[in-house]
Amino acid sequence: MRDPLPLLVNTDFPPLRRGRLDTLQVNVGYRCNQSCLHCHVNAGPTRKEEMQADVAEAIVRYLDASEVSTLDITGGAPEMNAQFRPLVRAARARDLRVIDRCNLTILEEPDQEDLSAFLAEQRVEIVASMPCYLEENVDAQRGAGVFDTSIRGLRRLNALGYGMPDSDLVLDLVYNPQGPVLPPAQDVLEPDYKNILMDGYGIHFNRLYVLANMPVGRFGSTLVSKGELDAYLALLRRAHHDDNLDAVMCRSLLSVDWQGYVYDCDFNQMLGLPMRVNGSARVHLSELMELDMEGRAIAVRAHCYACTAGQGSSCGGALI
Ligand code: SF4
Ligand code: SF4
Repeated sequence: MRDPLPLLVNTDFPPLRRGRLDTLQVNVGYRCNQSCLHCHVNAGPTRKEEMQADVAEAIVRYLDASEVSTLDITGGAPEMNAQFRPLVRAARARDLRVIDRCNLTILEEPDQEDLSAFLAEQRVEIVASMPCYLEENVDAQRGAGVFDTSIRGLRRLNALGYGMPDSDLVLDLVYNPQGPVLPPAQDVLEPDYKNILMDGYGIHFNRLYVLANMPVGRFGSTLVSKGELDAYLALLRRAHHDDNLDAVMCRSLLSVDWQGYVYDCDFNQMLGLPMRVNGSARVHLSELMELDMEGRAIAVRAHCYACTAGQGSSCGGALI
């Protein structure tokens, strides 16, 4: 793996400060049943990083101590971690909104037969990767057979009410481009996705989130290896819009890693770029229980242009 961070340091990205915190995004570990080319986590089946119970307990204490309204759980495939279900139950018992960043193929893993029913019972919102509606593109990016497995996963979720008209079970899909290019407009691509997935496969879903590829993790390393990082960063910078700055997710989100250390966002977590508090090299969530972070500086680097290019990009899709 090539580390892109040293190549992201020299930047004129505008300074950012935190606003009011509303979302705790927890990365429970880097283990995944897939190894996608565009993965910003470099996740895969052999990764050993796994959140343990003491960190999950600190997260629940933080949910009680803060005014966070959303717990957003990611990975890897977060459902593979033993703390996933206890965290979901704890957050839902506190009436918080819970988001599962699901890769769909996990729903067919042998030890996860009851996963979709668990998610429905807990009213968990699902944000599912579906980087194209064409089988060849999905399989090229995510692995052979992933498209068919994903379609079966979507049908399984629809059967439980996810994404269906008149149902409150939310199923959103995520598109990202195949390579170092800007994504198409979300409001143009969403109707195409809806028509093609409905006509071809009978699939319902709520929203399509269109994300730019972030030049970190496996994708960032590949760009460095191919000598394409500078050109991609220049493309993102040329497409920057100041209007996106107010809505970038780091202004209202705190990212926590599998060991409980905190970052301004999941991308900074993957770069090993921790949130700085009072000059410390890194901070554990358990040290933040009483701390109001509003107004604190955010650690920005050149990759941040992926969040502000064009229509903008965040875990909730386009910004403008
Ligand atoms: S992109 Fe998602 S599904 Fe693919 S390897 Fe990374 S974490 Fe796993
Ligand atoms: S990469 Fe992270 S820190 Fe940079 S703008 Fe995006 S969300 Fe904020």
